[in-house]
Amino acid sequence: MIAVLKQGTTPAQIQHLVDWLKHMNLDVHISEGAEVTILGLIGDTSRVDMELLKSLEMVDSVKRVSEPFKQANRKFHPKETIIDVGGVRVGGGYFAMIAGPCSVESEEQIISVANAVKQSGANILRGGAFKPRTSPYAFQGMKGEGIRLLLEAKKATGMPIVTEIMNIATLDLFADVDIIQVGARNMQNFDLLKELGKTKKPILLKRGLANTIQELLMSAEYIMSEGNEQVILCERGIRTFETATRNTLDLSAVAVLHNLTHLPVVVDPSHATGVAGLVPPMACAAAASGADGIMVEVHNNPSCALCDGAQSLTPEQFDELNRKIQRIREVIA
Ligand code: PEP
Ligand code: MN
Repeated sequence: MIAVLKQGTTPAQIQHLVDWLKHMNLDVHISEGAEVTILGLIGDTSRVDMELLKSLEMVDSVKRVSEPFKQANRKFHPKETIIDVGGVRVGGGYFAMIAGPCSVESEEQIISVANAVKQSGANILRGGAFKPRTSPYAFQGMKGEGIRLLLEAKKATGMPIVTEIMNIATLDLFADVDIIQVGARNMQNFDLLKELGKTKKPILLKRGLANTIQELLMSAEYIMSEGNEQVILCERGIRTFETATRNTLDLSAVAVLHNLTHLPVVVDPSHATGVAGLVPPMACAAAASGADGIMVEVHNNPSCALCDGAQSLTPEQFDELNRKIQRIREVIA
């Protein structure tokens, strides 16, 4: 349920109302806009007397929110959320250019890719240290050592870093990581989501291989309901009957999500297509669709990559892509 307050309501009046609502065992989310303040009520609102609430002097209108996601809902928070990642902003007109290898493989590799993508306009560095692989015999990532090398690359370039967590037991290793990624395979690992909700770190939440947009928002809600509101959503393709691409990029999800939620939405065309040649056109399409950023795999030598070489761009291809994206962003601005 949301209560829109009248213009001119004083902070003391708002506090009084919030206290009263909290007495009914409700959590109250306050969204202060330039003109109006909106109170989002979370919990069992069936006992709230809507007519009584509506009749209060300071209340303009009261609406029930039918969707099961509340804190992620744009009705609770009409303004876009802007997430500050170590000085780089994402959302609300700020574009995340996230680039880097699928996996960290060596110091030389991550530093060289980090320098190259920064030069070309990337503002966040990606790199997997803990890798969720389909085969237990495939390269599983450099783990803690991979994170240490990412931190070296962060020091060398000044770029914030994003890397995936698979198990909450490793959380301590992420202390200096700027964004913690929850991969597609863990999108509904609810215990992991709840624990990440207790941290203060921005979370990059990727859509599951066979999950609906609403399920993605419910997973964001798991994180937010524990107190962490810094969630960036990522469309990365879903599994369909199509086999020409690794997954099917659901670009309409960007527009749908922008209607439903205030959270930033980025697109990963690398895992969505699985083919390097398809990454630039889909990245451009993502930027044109109004996405708040893209995440692209870039490798200094894709044919020798330990993971996902076929979908990795070379630094030169990324440079060309970045120039196109900047032009598209000027056109749609
Ligand atoms: C990744 O970004 O490294 C990754 C494994 O992606 P996804 O979880 O989308 O498959
Ligand atoms: Mn990958």
